[in-house]
Amino acid sequence: MTAIQNVYCVGRNYRLHAEELGNEVPTSPMIFLKPSHAAVKLEDAELKLPFNQGGIHYEAELVVRIGQDYEPGMTADQLVNGLALGIDFTLRDVQTVLKQKGHPWTAAKGFKNSAPVTEFIPFPDQEAWLNQEFALLQNGQQVQLGSTRNMIFSLDTIIAHIGDTYGLAAGDIIFTGTPEGVGPTAAGDTFELIYAGNSMGTCRITD
Ligand code: MG
Repeated sequence: MTAIQNVYCVGRNYRLHAEELGNEVPTSPMIFLKPSHAAVKLEDAELKLPFNQGGIHYEAELVVRIGQDYEPGMTADQLVNGLALGIDFTLRDVQTVLKQKGHPWTAAKGFKNSAPVTEFIPFPDQEAWLNQEFALLQNGQQVQLGSTRNMIFSLDTIIAHIGDTYGLAAGDIIFTGTPEGVGPTAAGDTFELIYAGNSMGTCRITD
C-alpha cells in the first residue's frame, strides 16, 4: 500500500461543530493541510502531544484514503479505497491567536502526532457510508457521535473540490471534518474510536 502522501482536512463540515466554536458555516469546502509527518498510526500505544503550548482539543473524524489518480468527474466510489477514523488534534489556544492575526493554521494543526489514524478498512458503498455512525470515547465516556448524514459537504463534493483545485492521487488521505462535542485533552487520557459499533483503535495520551 502506498505510504500516506498529502493529508487534506475539511474544516467546519458539521453545522453544530462550526456553531460550537462560534464560526460561520462555510458556503464551499474549507480545506487545510497537515504535513504527512503528522499522520501516525493510531494503535494501542502512547501518543505524545505538545502540552507546553496551551490547550489541545480532540476532533474525531472519518478519514478516507485515495486509491488512484483523480480525474474530473470521478466519484468517491471510484476513487476511495479505504476508510479509517482519525483524530484531528488541535492546539486551540494557538489557533485562536492565529485566527485573530489572520495567519496560517500550521502551528495549530500540523504538529507531530496531530493526525493519528486507525487501520483502514474497505470503503463501504455510499448507502452504508451515509448510514453508519462513528463515535469517540474519552476515558470510556462517549464525547462525540457523528453521522455522515450531517456533513455539510458530501464526500463527492469534497473530492471534486480538492481534486480540481489541488489535485488528488493514490496515498492522499482526507480528514472529512468533526461533529460537535470537541473538547480538551490532558496527559493520561485514553481515546477509543468506534465505527459502526466496532472499536477501530485506542491510544493513550502523554506529554
Ligand atoms: Mg477538524
